[in-house]
Amino acid sequence: METELIRIHDLDEQILEMDRAASLIKAGEVVAFPTETVYGLGADGLSEAAVRKIFKAKGRPQDNPLILHVDSVQMLERLVLDIPEDAYRCIERFWPGPLTLLFRKSEIVPDIITAGLQTVAIRMPSHPVALELIRRSATPIAAPSANTSGRPSPTRASHVVQDMKGKIAMIIDGGKTGVGLESTVLDLTEAVPMILRPGGVTLEDLRELLPEVEMDPGLGDGREFTPKSPGQKYRHYAPNAEMIIFSGDRESLVTAMMERAREEESKGRRVGLLVTEENRDRYKGDNVIVMGSVEDKRTIAHGLFDAIRRLDELEIDIILCESVEEDQIGMAIMNRLLKAAGGNRIRL
Ligand code: AMP
Ligand code: MG
Repeated sequence: METELIRIHDLDEQILEMDRAASLIKAGEVVAFPTETVYGLGADGLSEAAVRKIFKAKGRPQDNPLILHVDSVQMLERLVLDIPEDAYRCIERFWPGPLTLLFRKSEIVPDIITAGLQTVAIRMPSHPVALELIRRSATPIAAPSANTSGRPSPTRASHVVQDMKGKIAMIIDGGKTGVGLESTVLDLTEAVPMILRPGGVTLEDLRELLPEVEMDPGLGDGREFTPKSPGQKYRHYAPNAEMIIFSGDRESLVTAMMERAREEESKGRRVGLLVTEENRDRYKGDNVIVMGSVEDKRTIAHGLFDAIRRLDELEIDIILCESVEEDQIGMAIMNRLLKAAGGNRIRL
């Protein structure tokens, strides 16, 4: 299939392009588009045939449900049986934005979206291109991240081209995404509100509104558990290379990573180092990639997936990576790093 590539830099001026994209969604085709988290792979969320094409393009396991993206609370109301009071409060504070909420689904939501579950995950993105696409398509848009299943999520249109060219009808280039990590998934359908996936809205943000929010126990770095959110059980965001996360204080971290790097290089392996801005000058070697600054961990979130993809392009055999503190957005960063590394972590 020929994949059309369009670039949107001025929404007001580019009505024709957005209409073309929306007409493809209405015709049951798949269109990749920018959101404030990562690029999404979108299709008409009420059409089973259209949604099937998303699973096919990504190679996504059928038991992993999708998030529906809406442009308004009116659109949300058609998709759910009820909206609890706490959900309204979250919507008021965090929508549009990187918070996905679970609701009891209404009849019109196809089973393929929820992988047969009785709950449906929904969010309202804040990216103007995403909102405009949903509005013009006049339907909720199902959209997982626009990467091949298992690969790092795309934060630039070029990443989507790498994974999806020839497999989908259109890619909308809207520049680099903002947050750089996926949305937070929050379950409000049970007695205690649970975060099923940490993301752009932090635990600390949510606790200001709902003090009783907890992290789902299935989120630990252990690999043996029964996940409540099917997505928890898969290896995700993974580079081609083997990856190890190093945790400890700054001094021992740098020493241990350099030592390991020399050891691997002596075996003839190509080593890549994924480090924080503050430590960059303390490492030696060709393939030192900075993921962002610990002073502002949002920069790490923003640059992380791009850094991992760049290491893949360098044909690295093993990536040695610094960990970050697990507060604020650090929780989501460590969740992605540990998944990318398949749980491989050295504590110093
Ligand atoms: P992605 O679309 O790749 O960002 O992943 C969506 C995430 O939301 C996955 O981890 C899914 O397992 C999770 N998810 C979607 N719908 C549900 C649901 N109804 N119940 C629990 N988790 C869900
Ligand atoms: Mg994904």
